[in-house]
Amino acid sequence: MDFLRPTTWEEALAAKADQPEAVPIQGGTDVMVEINFDVRRPVALLDLGNVAELRTWTLADGVCRVGAAVPYTRIIDELGEALPGLAQASRTVGSPQIRNRGSVGGNLGAASPAGDSHPPLLAAGAVVEVASRDGGVRMIPAGEFYLGVKRSALRPDELIRAFHLRPATGPQYFSKVGTRNAMVIAVCSFAVALHPGERRVGTGLGSAAPTPRRAVEAEEFLGRELDWDSRLDPALLGRFGELCAAAAAPIDDVRGTAAYRRHAIAVLARRTLTWAWNDHRGRRAA
Ligand SMILES: Cc1cc2nc3c(=O)[nH]c(=O)nc-3n(C[C@H](O)[C@H](O)[C@H](O)COP(=O)(O)OP(=O)(O)OC[C@H]3O[C@@H](n4cnc5c(N)ncnc54)[C@H](O)[C@@H]3O)c2cc1C
Repeated sequence: MDFLRPTTWEEALAAKADQPEAVPIQGGTDVMVEINFDVRRPVALLDLGNVAELRTWTLADGVCRVGAAVPYTRIIDELGEALPGLAQASRTVGSPQIRNRGSVGGNLGAASPAGDSHPPLLAAGAVVEVASRDGGVRMIPAGEFYLGVKRSALRPDELIRAFHLRPATGPQYFSKVGTRNAMVIAVCSFAVALHPGERRVGTGLGSAAPTPRRAVEAEEFLGRELDWDSRLDPALLGRFGELCAAAAAPIDDVRGTAAYRRHAIAVLARRTLTWAWNDHRGRRAA
């Protein structure tokens, strides 16, 4: 197996262009498990660990640009205020060891429907920055990035460089159902982001369809019906839960049944929206 070790972004893109079958490795928390269990035997690994810029983030012109390799621990410690939904989801990933090495770039690269970063990225409207030597840069909205189970819009010669997100202008929440409280793949998960300035609510469903996805009808429903100056109407909350459940297309598997997942998505949707709404009202009262 070839082991390619670029030290700059340009070298990394050149290596991927010359050998598109090379498998990128960042924190290795997915890739090494697959190799150890013989799920795949890549002809080459492209180690991005020496490309320092992938571990940096910036905040400029009202947008946070977070390098693909910034680990969950740093998202929690350094970006908790700007990106609260993603930070909350990051706290639920694996164990301290996994959070120290694992990255959102790797989560995106794996594109598992159960990946915990996806719902908050969808709810907050993230854009994924990808690039190739010959094709240049492409900016892909998170909602267009996930194409199927563990399939994304990434082309064989492309690498993920960063994701872009506006710092939160309202409350954001993430919630995940697992068979235990830590070190668990989501049975299903849900994220909500309030955008009070735009009178808009963003959603993200995890582990409840072949891809992470938004509950678009539920978002549109709240866009029409939500009175931002009033208390949360229980009937509206119930309908929101129903529409989020309707957006799911879950399967039965070892972690849960489709029926349970659909039910749980409705519960998580109502719960996270209630938390977010209480925060929103609290901020206005303060
Ligand atoms: C014990 C354990 C517990 C875990 N718990 C969770 C959990 O709770 N929630 C969760 O979501 N995940 C969990 N995971 C999975 C994993 O930790 C995450 O998916 C993590 O985000 C992967 O990041 P990484 O940097 O380690 O990726 P890597 O393993 O390095 O790569 C993952 C995939 O992304 C590709 N890739 C990496 N970087 C790039 C790039 N820059 N451009 C293009 N492709 C790239 C790789 O080729 C590979 O396909 C767990 C894993 C383990 C081993």
